[in-house]
Amino acid sequence: MKFATLRTAADQPPFVALIDAAGQRYWPLSDLVPEFQGDMQQLIHDWASLGERIAPQGEGRLLDGASLQVPLHPHRNMFCIGKNYFEHAAEFSGSGYDSSTTADDVVPKHPIVFTKAYNTLIAHGDDIPRHAEVTEQLDYEAEFAVIIGKSGRGIKKSEAFDHVWGYTIANDVTARDLQKKHKQWHLGKSLDGLCPMGPWLVTADELERDSATIKCWVNGELRQDARLDQLIFDVPTLIETLSAGITLEPGDVILTGTPVGVGIGFTPPRFLQAGDTVRIEVTGIGALENRVGD
Ligand code: MG
Repeated sequence: MKFATLRTAADQPPFVALIDAAGQRYWPLSDLVPEFQGDMQQLIHDWASLGERIAPQGEGRLLDGASLQVPLHPHRNMFCIGKNYFEHAAEFSGSGYDSSTTADDVVPKHPIVFTKAYNTLIAHGDDIPRHAEVTEQLDYEAEFAVIIGKSGRGIKKSEAFDHVWGYTIANDVTARDLQKKHKQWHLGKSLDGLCPMGPWLVTADELERDSATIKCWVNGELRQDARLDQLIFDVPTLIETLSAGITLEPGDVILTGTPVGVGIGFTPPRFLQAGDTVRIEVTGIGALENRVGD
């Protein structure tokens, strides 16, 4: 199932909706389960009791008549993984922007973990702030994101998917000059609006994860094209690593890393400019598209 957070008018509150397979119609969740009045975080938290009761009723409403919002507001920073595809690891290390690497660890031996603050979240269709006053080097990173459904600490790889609620698409937009200058990545990753997410969330059963692809176009030009099974550290390994000493909670988000083809991989680098459009597609989820603002 697909779930979005929608708004039908500026003076009306956002609400959670079930989206049809084609991504064209929706049903407000409160029409399907009348006692449910919560947000996406609540839906994920209550999934064990709610999930099996949710089914479309009637034709639904046209999605064109609503606007997509940030699908999920996590209760803390999003976990992010750096250099998690082989060719991207080489591309980043060779770019001169990676202050974290020595010659013998171009491919990381352990997952590189950082976080992205929730002030970064914007919806499908929102403009990515250009931030021209603080960065000249805005870059895109198409990413497959995992949504945790069941809390746990010390989760073993073999049990990891029991803790996954679903998936979405994210763009880990990065100010490369800030990422390089400040060594630690947080500042370059967490400027306001640098994490488009959506267009919606899909439950784990929707996705054939091993054959799924992730693709990214800038102004219609294909820049990134990979399979999700090319991750250096797969989803169970990431969950085992993160949860070893941190309790993962329902609604936690993990951005799993970006494949080869980001702007700094080109010579000269191809940074995002005002007016550029970034479109990311993941098989089985949909497409996330955002324009860079002025
Ligand atoms: Mg990234």
